Amino acid sequence: MTAHNPLEALANLRHEFGEHGGVNMSIEASTTFTVMQADIMPEIFHGLRGPESGGCYLYGRHFNPTVYVLGRELAAIEATEAGYCTASGMSAIAATLIQLCEPGDHIVAGRVLYGGTYALLTRFLPRRFGIHATLVDVADLKQIDAAFTERTRVLYVETMSNPTLVVADLPRLAEIAHRHGAKLVVDNTFCPLIVTPARHGADIVIHSMTKFLSGASDIIAGAICGPKAFIMSLMDVNDGALMLLGPTMDPKVAFELSLRLPHLGLRMQEHSRRAQVFAERLAEHRLPVIYPGLPMHPQHQVLQRLANPEFGFGGLFCLDLGDAARAAEFMEILQNKDKFGYIAVSLGYFDTLMSCSASTTSSEMPETEQHQVGLSPGLVRISIGYTGTLEQRWKQFADALRILNMI
Ligand code: PLP
Repeated sequence: MTAHNPLEALANLRHEFGEHGGVNMSIEASTTFTVMQADIMPEIFHGLRGPESGGCYLYGRHFNPTVYVLGRELAAIEATEAGYCTASGMSAIAATLIQLCEPGDHIVAGRVLYGGTYALLTRFLPRRFGIHATLVDVADLKQIDAAFTERTRVLYVETMSNPTLVVADLPRLAEIAHRHGAKLVVDNTFCPLIVTPARHGADIVIHSMTKFLSGASDIIAGAICGPKAFIMSLMDVNDGALMLLGPTMDPKVAFELSLRLPHLGLRMQEHSRRAQVFAERLAEHRLPVIYPGLPMHPQHQVLQRLANPEFGFGGLFCLDLGDAARAAEFMEILQNKDKFGYIAVSLGYFDTLMSCSASTTSSEMPETEQHQVGLSPGLVRISIGYTGTLEQRWKQFADALRILNMI
């Protein structure tokens, strides 16, 4: 396998000059597109012409040129043949699964997933589409293998699970999925640039661009990266989940996000650097910290094997404060006394975001299951930002721990 450097791949894309020679591309803010000869239009409807064949566009809910550029950028980063962007991460996930599965089909999925994905797989898809899922421990390859049925079409995992930060051993999962004739679909939201799932056997890679890719907590967006035939199928006018469900990305949003990708590498490096230092210091104090960059993390070596060099082990770590009340007190000190960060869901922001996953972004998961997967009510998920200086932030964090008599 040849090495993949996502930053080099992004930089190798052709320049998208603006209409008047601008260094930034122009925004194609049209909802409908003209043709010079009327008989071309039916060919676009029949999929005979499109962005890649004749440079033809049809309608804003179908492909848009500006969104298509962003899709190409994501595909370059993720080393896939093609990519396209959506109005949210959830719409990227839902459209992908609906496109790959029919009623009666089956999905094997990691048991710890973002709560919205969990609800989609365990409630929405079975009830409304007759697509059922079996949830498995992604670290238990035997259990995964045994969960496949003749109707399994997809093995679905997050590269690093939200919120417990279990790392999926993608090459092994790809081998299992492909042996059963299924696709490996990977949500890489926590690990942009850090891991390139398609280089490890993933067939389709999904992002919530709302997070690190945006970096500013101001835009909801998603992306789907995969083979060109799959991306085109999503836009089929008769059968495409994106075309027919319509979670389209606005070209102005695509333009905004495209301008943020050139500094994604610098941002990820700093998120990871700070998370690593915080996690190491917490571990020195023997506090219950979860971070895949720590040698004691159960999948530290897996991530080391999968990770592209230079981007570290990610910008998220978890600290178990024991119970929800203590976790609340801790976060309130950090937000209200120190301006260390915000008590807010989401991640990948330039400032620090802290939330108690069990009662918020994983509340869709029943308590008994939360307990089984080690998701305690006091577990605080921290997406570490890069505002201020590292030592200033560490001092604030350590002071809050001292107030709670934890160090
Ligand atoms: N995937 C993961 C891992 C997430 O954490 C989230 C949201 O938190 C999503 C998908 C959904 O993304 P969005 O909020 O952009 O729809």
